[in-house]
Amino acid sequence: MNANTLQTPIDYLKGVGPNRAALLRKEVGIHTFQDLLNFFPNRYIDKTKYYKINEIQRNSAEIQIIGKIVHLKTVAQKRGKRLVASFVDNTGKIELVWFRGHKWIQENIQLNEPYVIFGKVNYYNGIYSMPHPEMELLKEHQKQMKIAMQPLYPSTETLSKRGVTNRAVIKMIQQVFVENKKGFVETLPDYLRKELKLISKSEALFNIHFPQSPEKLAQAQFRLKFEELFYVQLQLLMKNLLHKRKIKGFKFTEVGNYFNEFYSKHLPFELTNAQKRVIKEIRNDLGTGAQMNRLLQGDVGSGKTIVALMSCLLALDNGFQASLMAPTEILATQHFQGLSELCAEMNIEIALLTGSSKTKERRIIHEKLENGELDILIGTHALLEDKVKFKNLGLAIIDEQHRFGVAQRAKLWKKNINPPHILVMTATPIPRTLAMSLYGDLDISVIDELPPGRKAIKTVHRYDNNRLKVFAFIRDEIKKGRQIYVVYPLIQESEKMDYKDLMDGYESIAREFPQPEFQISIVHGQMKPADKDYEMNRFVKGETQIMVATTVIEVGVNVPNASVMIIESAERFGLSQLHQLRGRVGRGAEQSFCILMTGHKLSSDSKTRLETMTQTNDGFEIAEVDLKLRGPGDLMGTQQSGVLNLQIADIVKDNQILKSARYHAMKILKDDQQLQKEENRIVNYTYQQIAKNKTIWNYIS
Ligand code: ADP
Ligand code: MG
Repeated sequence: MNANTLQTPIDYLKGVGPNRAALLRKEVGIHTFQDLLNFFPNRYIDKTKYYKINEIQRNSAEIQIIGKIVHLKTVAQKRGKRLVASFVDNTGKIELVWFRGHKWIQENIQLNEPYVIFGKVNYYNGIYSMPHPEMELLKEHQKQMKIAMQPLYPSTETLSKRGVTNRAVIKMIQQVFVENKKGFVETLPDYLRKELKLISKSEALFNIHFPQSPEKLAQAQFRLKFEELFYVQLQLLMKNLLHKRKIKGFKFTEVGNYFNEFYSKHLPFELTNAQKRVIKEIRNDLGTGAQMNRLLQGDVGSGKTIVALMSCLLALDNGFQASLMAPTEILATQHFQGLSELCAEMNIEIALLTGSSKTKERRIIHEKLENGELDILIGTHALLEDKVKFKNLGLAIIDEQHRFGVAQRAKLWKKNINPPHILVMTATPIPRTLAMSLYGDLDISVIDELPPGRKAIKTVHRYDNNRLKVFAFIRDEIKKGRQIYVVYPLIQESEKMDYKDLMDGYESIAREFPQPEFQISIVHGQMKPADKDYEMNRFVKGETQIMVATTVIEVGVNVPNASVMIIESAERFGLSQLHQLRGRVGRGAEQSFCILMTGHKLSSDSKTRLETMTQTNDGFEIAEVDLKLRGPGDLMGTQQSGVLNLQIADIVKDNQILKSARYHAMKILKDDQQLQKEENRIVNYTYQQIAKNKTIWNYIS
């Protein structure tokens, strides 16, 4: 069957009429023969085994039994009726139960004829019963193609209600194989198959649906997963290459006064090797003439800000403006203060634009932006407003990417006739595998080294009933001149419960640490921004020793003298959030601590999260655990979860295959960018087909 035949609408498959076809399209997105072939089973059941009724265990999985129906009756129940059959073999009796579809069953069931039934058995009041079993006359069953491992396909309620049972799906797929005796077109080149010992496409497809053995099934899965990931990677990499050829960027040829002056005179510390490497990568990108689209990953405190600033200086050196966008007002403000300080002695005009900027300030900013007086604009989402127009924006930096969506990235693009270079910075390290799949079209830089002299934060887990010891510890630290954070979860800023927890906590701390000896700040989302800033500033200046807060302090805040982070109800936070919060301490020279407070009742996921936190400070390691716990969709937010709509591969479980697929896709493109070589003919052809039929990449933006 060639690729075109596989595009035949499903209506034309023997046994599928227009009604069923419509159902398949609507319920599971199967439009063509090809889609049906790519409709892979969730799992497989051993169908070589037939159970005797007296062998049934209370917690058996789905099982298969041979026997007869000897009696059929309807039983009234609270709502409606149920149909109950007595099913016997020579060892005992069970009940088969139907809650719907009675008419059809009553008309079609043959009493006292041997059947093979299949389903899950329930146990209730001493009786075993099987609701809605799959049934087949024994003589029909014996005629069928023998399948040792029976595939179980994903289904929906509507599908099973309307008679598209698992068996019906199996029959349809068998029909595709029957109609296609010649096998399926190969989609991976020979040399790759040889190198990776991959079975052929035909063999793989057959065995994924009808495994001849567990070994064959494993080979089939491997082959198909590899293929899927390979073509996704190829697509992403091609897109990247194309982007570089097509999208002209501003060419920053100059490394001029601003950059050099800053580097030689105002740099407050020696850059780490990782920072140097990353700045070089960015400099190279900016000089090529192609538009840069780069993701900068670096753990909390790894020093991304200085990299951002120096990149901005490169823009300025070439006569362009730059912008830096942060997810919260506090963070934007800190960036503004930080960068202004760093550039204080240079002739650079920097401004801050946030939701709370006054109308008059705004007007001035808008004006200076448009006439080019303003060099660097720092702010929140406010930067994206249409009124904000640059004279010539050359570089747009986004801090904390995970809080902005793709749409916002796109909006920044449109700030100019030519798209500015884009640098996206994230402190929540994205596991490499995920980054590869999501941002395959971005280039990635990593700061994998912390500035020298940092002591690893000591993290412990304490139960609520140890609070007195924790208070004693706080007192000691304050005596040494340190400052303390106490953070409460406030998942929804409006949740009254959480708010009460926070206030109760505040009160008990205030009792334990009374004025005037101790001063306490409190910051939460229900405060006015001005009040928040006031409290925050008291803590920053060292006027208060304890900061009681909700997660509003999560991002970016920098108080080097704070050395203890206490996280209340730590079991309610996600891993990346815990890691972010912990990153607020350990910024000065002193030994820092993170104390995770919880009650005794913990889910196994919570335990894993707490253990991970106490065992490592490495953000990448933490991100990998997080990915395993939450799955990719959840990790990236619903916004992007659709991006990972893979048919068979799983980027978490199959990350070794993903790495290999990416490696091979890169290798091929490296010496055959346009896929013109004879040996890559199959790759090119398949790639075109996939692009044309959009079967797997509807999802790529
Ligand atoms: P993040 O990557 O979390 O944004 P920052 O840029 O805020 O980190 O840097 C964290 C702290 O480390 C800041 O106080 C910054 O001044 C300091 N820092 C950054 N780079 C270095 C360096 N190479 N040597 C010493 N301190 C550094
Ligand atoms: Mg930062």
